[in-house]
Amino acid sequence: KIIFMMGGPGSGKGTQCEKLAEKYGFTHLSTGELLRHELASESERSKLIRDIMERGDLVPSGIVLELLREAMVASLRDTQGFLIDGYPREVKQGEEFGRRIGDPHLVICMDCSADTMTNRLLQRSQSSPRADDATKTIAKRLETYYRASIPVIAYYETKTQLRKINAEGTPEEVFLRLCAAIDSIF
Ligand code: AMP
Repeated sequence: KIIFMMGGPGSGKGTQCEKLAEKYGFTHLSTGELLRHELASESERSKLIRDIMERGDLVPSGIVLELLREAMVASLRDTQGFLIDGYPREVKQGEEFGRRIGDPHLVICMDCSADTMTNRLLQRSQSSPRADDATKTIAKRLETYYRASIPVIAYYETKTQLRKINAEGTPEEVFLRLCAAIDSIF
């Protein structure tokens, strides 16, 4: 099983993916986390992506897919499925994934207002070492997300199961909505 978890920065997708992974035995893969891990490794690839990530721009899709594929292969043996968060950010990434790995069985879209996402990100930036949580980067990331996500959602609308989940409210409320959607499909 492959599930894509779409949602803007601050929509709560990271938190929810952790909880869903635990409940269903899924492997949670976040392309943002994989990229941050790669940055910390000081590899050749990390030099290519550092400036891009600090600006809040998208990392080249070939690098992201390579990291994702490596991580999927590494946990293929002992998993109930993959819960992939932060990917695809562009239709091109979705097409590439479909060709190399296959289309996802479910795409979840976390619906959340820009105000809620901004407030959550500002709270996170007070307690987090993530350089990209700075206020001016938040607006850029939200804008990048909105611009990119609309065509991606349209792309999957006819291709696979797509579920839009109300991501406002407490983490517990959102979690219950997500479980209901997953249980209705698998
Ligand atoms: P996130 O943790 O999902 O907010 O991602 C943090 C940063 O990592 C983004 O601002 C991008 O620079 C980069 N990133 C994460 N996922 C992708 C992706 N699928 N394609 C390109 N860049 C990505």
